[in-house]
Amino acid sequence: MERPIISSRVDPKDCIFCRIVKRELPAYIVYEDTKYIAFLDKAPFSEGHTLVCPKEHGETIWDMNEQDIGGLFMIASRLSKAIVDAMQADGFRFVQNNGEAANQVVAHVHVHVVPVKKDDKGKMMGRIKISEDKMKDIADKITTKINNMNRISFRSLKNLEYPI
Ligand SMILES: [Zn+2]
Repeated sequence: MERPIISSRVDPKDCIFCRIVKRELPAYIVYEDTKYIAFLDKAPFSEGHTLVCPKEHGETIWDMNEQDIGGLFMIASRLSKAIVDAMQADGFRFVQNNGEAANQVVAHVHVHVVPVKKDDKGKMMGRIKISEDKMKDIADKITTKINNMNRISFRSLKNLEYPI
């Protein structure tokens, strides 16, 4: 049996990401389909730092089936292209924390997509504060890039089925 990991258990009705999915809390949402949603991190490491989540509540990646894990990272991979392009970044990081020991702050599975620039190389990244106007501008830029991507390839992911 898998060793359980310690997570900050939360009732889905109190989960801030579930509440963003239900539009009970505001967020700069840049992408949404039937299974996944992506929005800007409120306390980002860089401009364009985006969180990609399954809409269904689960605390860690171990709460998801493998098909949905595959879908989550496929969406994150596709969105990373739009994010890097929109932010004129030179690279990006995926960060996916599971459990308190990994410093998972919100107990709802999420993948961080953090665009980085050449000058960021080797630096520890700290949280930055971005004005609401700037956040809106960033969200608009990313959304525009996503909308210009191949919509058919995104649509085909909604009923994701592939052999493993
Ligand atoms: Zn949740």
